[in-house]
Amino acid sequence: MPSPPPQIPVRIAVFAPLRRLFDYLAPGSARPGMRALLPFGQGQRVGVILQVDIRSELDESRLKPVRQLLDAEPLFSSDDLAFLGWAAAYYQHPLGEVLATALPALLRRGKPPPPAGLEGWALHSPPSPTQQQALARAPRQHQLLELLRDGPKAGLSQADLRARLGPCGPVLKALAEKGLIRPLLLPLDLPRQTAEPGPELMAQQRQAVEQILGGQGFHPCLLHGITGSGKTEVYLAASRAVIQAGGQVLVLVPEIALTPQTTERFARRLGLTPLVLHSALNERERALAWIQASRGEAALVLGTRSAIFTPLPRLGLLILDEEHDLSFKQQDGFRYSARDLALVRGRRAACPVLLGSATPSLESLHNARQGRFTLLRLEQRAGAAQPPQVQLLDIRSAPLQAGLSPALLDAMQRELAADNQVLLFLNRRGYAPVLICHDCGWIAPCPHCDARLCLHLAEQRLSCHHCGQLRRIPDHCPACQGQRLSGHGVGTEQVEAFLAQRFAAFPCVRIDRDSTRRQGSLQKKLEGVRQGSQRILLGTQMLAKGHDFPQVTLVAMLDVDQGLFGADFRATERMAQLLTQVAGRAGRAERPGRVLIQTRYPDHPLLRQLIEQGYGACAEELLQERQQAQLPPFSHQALLRADALQAEQAEAFVQQALALGQELSQKLSQGIEFWGPAPAAMERRAGRHRQQLLLQSTSRPRLQAFLGPWLERLEAIKAPARLRWSIDVDPLETL
Ligand code: ADP
Ligand code: ZN
Ligand code: ZN
Repeated sequence: MPSPPPQIPVRIAVFAPLRRLFDYLAPGSARPGMRALLPFGQGQRVGVILQVDIRSELDESRLKPVRQLLDAEPLFSSDDLAFLGWAAAYYQHPLGEVLATALPALLRRGKPPPPAGLEGWALHSPPSPTQQQALARAPRQHQLLELLRDGPKAGLSQADLRARLGPCGPVLKALAEKGLIRPLLLPLDLPRQTAEPGPELMAQQRQAVEQILGGQGFHPCLLHGITGSGKTEVYLAASRAVIQAGGQVLVLVPEIALTPQTTERFARRLGLTPLVLHSALNERERALAWIQASRGEAALVLGTRSAIFTPLPRLGLLILDEEHDLSFKQQDGFRYSARDLALVRGRRAACPVLLGSATPSLESLHNARQGRFTLLRLEQRAGAAQPPQVQLLDIRSAPLQAGLSPALLDAMQRELAADNQVLLFLNRRGYAPVLICHDCGWIAPCPHCDARLCLHLAEQRLSCHHCGQLRRIPDHCPACQGQRLSGHGVGTEQVEAFLAQRFAAFPCVRIDRDSTRRQGSLQKKLEGVRQGSQRILLGTQMLAKGHDFPQVTLVAMLDVDQGLFGADFRATERMAQLLTQVAGRAGRAERPGRVLIQTRYPDHPLLRQLIEQGYGACAEELLQERQQAQLPPFSHQALLRADALQAEQAEAFVQQALALGQELSQKLSQGIEFWGPAPAAMERRAGRHRQQLLLQSTSRPRLQAFLGPWLERLEAIKAPARLRWSIDVDPLETL
């Protein structure tokens, strides 16, 4: 009989929502950072080995052997494990789930790492004369063949093709079916393209690059540069230097799908194939990218928030573009901030961290003022572009048509007639935000939320923007049986319909979540804008994010008033950022830009200051207000949220959490402030009643020291089965 393999006791973080670790027996080849398949409860789970040869509190005879060791080499280095362990502890989230989050789905499910090689395509047989003719009518197929013909002999990677053509799955499939191209695995060290030269840096750009690279070890910098001031050129120059010195660069952006030009620009200017962790990657590609990065094979990795977890053994520079953007914060499950984790990672890797924005968050500005970040300024627009001229339009007594004032319509007419493009911003999709009865005042409510249903005329539906509920549009009022039901207020759909009549000669493209649901449709629309075939761009905040539209000379914001009086203490900061970002889309090339802001509060001090003195001055003022009120960044918060089908259950839980918290805070003398229990701003959402408790302390370490033991006590509460609760450390939304 063969002797059993040697078994050693190991400690494992299991991919399960449990705040504890488990001990097992594993083969002698087990090492920290490898995955194992484990018997767990009635079934099996995947986990990551954290420590080997441990001294278990359980008797060894009671430890179960792992079913299978899944890796021959560790997936996580000890440094990765330490970083992720830190993140789990800081955000009070189970380590197993944190490790699972850090892995691409394929590996998370216990599948083997894919074989090294890039999925790519090469030319196969030349087209027959009939195929030739068919190609003439299929411009995308034709374009793709040309790319392959002119590219490297070995072929081009799928990621490369996508970076140049946008989503091209169907095109590839069609060509492969005709036998014109074939799939293959490309070697990882793709032939490098030659780097395209860039513009000569201006003095402030050059100084910024010198400062970023000149520091020793960990070195956080805040690059505050107005829109169009050439921040990306600074990223490029710093990246190039780090890559040439053999380092890896990680670039985080809010949304890759929205900014294919950024990816392109990095590829062309650095002469390399960036590893793009795109949401359109399939699971295999994603796993492959992850493995490549972790082997140190990719010089530049570009991704959104979750890319912060990509292992990079030679990390030499971390860049976060649009660092103020909310998307860097994960809002459910493992609620981390990629920006804050970037700083932790930079410290561990002893490398510079560059946060860039035209509208830095108050947190980052505060850090700069405290001397924790080096502040780098770019105060001029690059090249010939001039800062736009901003003007408030008082619409209190203006006769609006679909939300547009006569003054705005005139301005649009002039710009369009002069062959320019116009961008209209309205942060409300749908036709109208409510459906109202003109006889009795009834307003269509969402049956599951404390919210109104929005009218969507194109789909002939009422829709709840909070829970997704869809309803038929009633033909009479359920309260008074009246027939006079109509939409009230203006959404993008309505503006679009109006513009189609008013400016029939000028094609208009609408960009919001409804109009860009189909994959690739956003890219197509943006392409139309860049090529100039679309003359009016209308959209929600999807438009605010870092796009470069050189022919836009007039930007108008149809309604900024909602943002002026938001209940969240961050509402004004957000409004100032949004307004500045949207305004920054105007006049980015030679043609000067103009910004019109429609408001019913033309004397609002914040609006005035923003226009007269700019975002920086406004942020200073907001920071002072925060200081006086002792709000973040002058204090630190954590938010306990609970929801249940019955309001009393959520309330009782949070009440109990408060009692336990007060007792514990006293015992540890941590001086934690508790605000609540209080209902969430929208108390009922998707049929669940929501309560919360806000914790605040002027000391981050004290808050941290409190949270661990408090959560242990909360876990011991026997809560009703369907009650859910969570903790959000450094919450960005506290209502
Ligand atoms: P930001 O990222 O700050 O919005 P970009 O880096 O995209 O700005 O630059 C805006 C435009 O100015 C781009 O078209 C870019 O090519 C150009 N630009 C940037 N730096 C320079 C420079 N030093 N000289 C000339 N043009 C520049
Ligand atoms: Zn009615
Ligand atoms: Zn709803």
